[in-house]
Amino acid sequence: MKSTVRILIILAAALAASAAIYFWTPEIIFSGRPAWQEKRKEVRSRLLSIPILLYHNIDGKGVFSIDSDVLASHFNLFRDAGVRVIPLSELVARLENPRAFDGKSAVITFDDGFYSMHSKLFPLARDYGYPVTLFAYTDFIYRNGKSVMTWDMLRELDKNGIDVQCHSISHIDLAELSQNDDPESRKKLYDELYLSKRIIEIQLGKKVDFFAFPYGRYNLKLIDLCMLAGYRRVFSTDYGSNIITRDNYSLSRQHIKRGFTLQFIERFLK
Ligand SMILES: [Zn+2]
Repeated sequence: MKSTVRILIILAAALAASAAIYFWTPEIIFSGRPAWQEKRKEVRSRLLSIPILLYHNIDGKGVFSIDSDVLASHFNLFRDAGVRVIPLSELVARLENPRAFDGKSAVITFDDGFYSMHSKLFPLARDYGYPVTLFAYTDFIYRNGKSVMTWDMLRELDKNGIDVQCHSISHIDLAELSQNDDPESRKKLYDELYLSKRIIEIQLGKKVDFFAFPYGRYNLKLIDLCMLAGYRRVFSTDYGSNIITRDNYSLSRQHIKRGFTLQFIERFLK
């Protein structure tokens, strides 16, 4: 009997010791609250958490294209919900020097370089005074097709509130290309990440800082190469907002597709 009591006491003491080690973290000593509670509060604070919206085309055809009146209804929603649309560069500056925003903020981006950027987005963004970032891929612009912008149009947009950044040369799946180790693939990868940047810089006469992965697909090798190529930040299509106090190099964007309801967009901006 005595030995049973002794064993029970030892077990209770061991349990208490493990609980003490589990909860007694340096964070409690320094801040009085466990780290996970602080993290949770941080994620909940909308002033530190910035969503980036990703659109493609505005001709109402296909799942990645919306009508211009739908885009206008999104812009109205931002305004009515008191969401400040900030330039992508402002978000990146906050990541590099973390500080909460004064109110709810969001970033608008478009990918590819469709003609509707010039004919529809440009006047609408100007009416609302919204800054937009456009990630263009260079083969698309060189195509000179009816549904695509020209370099002259890109230059005009870039000088008037639509910041043009890089989205590769040919829009190939870079995660797949980066698996190949033959010299031709390595050269192509270099061109897709670095030559594309230089082409846009020369065509637009400015420094290009941001890269958006085609199809949102990436891996660690691509992130390393983007850092070497001199990009300040890269962008995927991973779900979720971006927390300012976590200095992520690869940022998430919420893909906005045809058929998404205003309620969905509203929830995402909350
Ligand atoms: Zn794209």
